[in-house]
Amino acid sequence: MSAEAEAHGVGVIRSLTCCCCGGGAGRWAQHWNRDRGYGICRACLDGPYAGSDPAELASLFGTEGVNYAGPATLPADAEARVQALKSLWRADPALSASLSLSDKLAAIAEARKFDGVVM
Ligand SMILES: [Zn+2]
Repeated sequence: MSAEAEAHGVGVIRSLTCCCCGGGAGRWAQHWNRDRGYGICRACLDGPYAGSDPAELASLFGTEGVNYAGPATLPADAEARVQALKSLWRADPALSASLSLSDKLAAIAEARKFDGVVM
């Protein structure tokens, strides 16, 4: 890896911001052709970039499942699982009270996992 690529953080897995909508783009490897800390979220790929030339997508955003989420890791799915957890806690105050904040954050992080990938 060149010093330049290293300074850019290419390949470093971090929480990325979507370069298109500014929302969360999940935890993926930094792509060389994106500003440091930026990636693309699945919703934007399926929206504004739907039907784009695969070679162009590869140049802009890198590789699916490496630099951005595949179709199976839709943030909407993850959010639905998180909401289900939260309504469980709301429906059962005793259960909710028995959990510390860090327990809940860990459970939420777990709920966001899909195919072993943390959103
Ligand atoms: Zn986006």
